[in-house]
Amino acid sequence: MKELIKKLTETFSPSGREEKIREVILEEIKPYVDEYEVDKLGNLIVHKKGNGKKILLDAHMDEVGFVVTYIDDKGFIRIEPVGGVNPANLLYKRVQFESGAVGTVGIEGETVKQLQENYKNITFDNIYVDIGAKSREEAEKRVKRGMFGGYTTNLEVLGDRLMAKSMDDRIGCAVVIQTLKELDSSPNDVYAVFAIQEEVGLIGATVSAFGIEPDMGIAVDVTGWGDTPKGMKRLAITLGDGPAIKVKDRYMIASKSVVDLLVKTAEENEIPYQMEVLLYGGTDGAMIQKTKKGIPTGVVSIPCRYVHTQSEIVDYNDVLNAVKLLKFTLKKEMK
Ligand SMILES: [Zn+2]
Repeated sequence: MKELIKKLTETFSPSGREEKIREVILEEIKPYVDEYEVDKLGNLIVHKKGNGKKILLDAHMDEVGFVVTYIDDKGFIRIEPVGGVNPANLLYKRVQFESGAVGTVGIEGETVKQLQENYKNITFDNIYVDIGAKSREEAEKRVKRGMFGGYTTNLEVLGDRLMAKSMDDRIGCAVVIQTLKELDSSPNDVYAVFAIQEEVGLIGATVSAFGIEPDMGIAVDVTGWGDTPKGMKRLAITLGDGPAIKVKDRYMIASKSVVDLLVKTAEENEIPYQMEVLLYGGTDGAMIQKTKKGIPTGVVSIPCRYVHTQSEIVDYNDVLNAVKLLKFTLKKEMK
């Protein structure tokens, strides 16, 4: 499964520009589903037919990034975030654009004092992307206003842990793909959505859940961590302790019936798990839940450090256990 994770995380597809990642996912999953559809907004919806209840798995395929707003006379590029990108996380990082152009991020400062002040308060107003161009004319041969960009890093295997950009939420995509690959049969009618534009407002999940109108939804996404030096104590999530079953985040209280089902399935199959109470953020699950007359919805989360940076870290065992948990859940007959 590491090869799959490498392929997914090394593909560059920020929100609104999901064409590339959709192609990669489709190629992987095609042999394992009965039918698939790309909807009008670009969601990839796959279907493994069954006679029972409609169960929807969702993982978002976009990643955070930025978009070009302005290129100056000397060829330096100004940007605006796409999704929750902290400008401090971009400084001096290697970045790429849709065109394939690469560059790094610099910061302004005409005096030492000003530079020190800017370091303390890094904003999208005082950083710029340097693609090595000497003029606007040269820069515009590679990058244009309105073009999307983002991190560019390769997957690194760090013992049991994996580090890459866009673990959020390509690791969720990998888990859903692997689950469908391993699911030889199910008493349920199983749909999976690889959703667009989660990072800018849960857009893809909103329209796809409406169209499918499932009996139950499970989103698969990353969650935060509390297990680093002086990490957030109140967020007791530990890498390697198992996939997290969401209780609550800022956007939803997971449906109790789904939480109970996931916990029971984990315990019956001796799959390690941890309960997740996330102090911030939300997932596609929030939108699935409030679709039409209401869809009981839960979330299986992969604990992930340094979310929305170029070096997000997950524990491989949590990933494997998330696949197990979903597979055993889908094998159950839903009432
Ligand atoms: Zn995210």
